[in-house]
Amino acid sequence: MPLHYRTNQCKRQENEKTNVLAPNQEMRYPINMEQNRFSYCPQCGTNEIETLGGGRKWKCPKCGFVLYNNVASAVGLVIENAEGEILFEKRAREPRKGFLVLPGGFTDPDETSEEAAYRECMEETGTAPEKLKYLCSFPNTYDYKGIRYKTCDIFFTASLPEGFSLKAQEGEVDAFIWKKIETKEDVETCPIAFDSAKNTLLKWLEEK
Ligand SMILES: [Zn+2]
Repeated sequence: MPLHYRTNQCKRQENEKTNVLAPNQEMRYPINMEQNRFSYCPQCGTNEIETLGGGRKWKCPKCGFVLYNNVASAVGLVIENAEGEILFEKRAREPRKGFLVLPGGFTDPDETSEEAAYRECMEETGTAPEKLKYLCSFPNTYDYKGIRYKTCDIFFTASLPEGFSLKAQEGEVDAFIWKKIETKEDVETCPIAFDSAKNTLLKWLEEK
């Protein structure tokens, strides 16, 4: 872990009580999760529950209840067909309904990222991915029903078996869209739902 990051972690802990960052505190990413608040402690019901660390943690001064809003692990797949097009899904629900995503989703408890990538692709497209290979990871923000979830999205390249047929998961995927992604502009003009997928496709282009 780089030293500057460790230092920030310590400062962050020192400042948790006041929820204010020291003027000299530099953070790699701003922590903007302040809307993640409880009105009452879920354990004892007091209304004194505190939101600390910019929304990273809740703590009850009455009963000692502590809950961390940890970063969630998620996965995505960059799937290219024989025509050199990338597979996108049009989202069927919020957040970012109607925008395009790469196949993928949240990692389940006790699952590896590879297993999650395989499972999510099966669920969303009805097809088993082949040749899963780690590509990169990027942080992401997922706002859902007033709660801000911070994720670390892990991306894989993959292919689909010969003669595959796609079956959209009901309630999740409205349509499949194959798109040529050959330039930075192709990424920037594509209505991609989340920054992590945008950043991944830019990196994928660079390394191609
Ligand atoms: Zn409590």
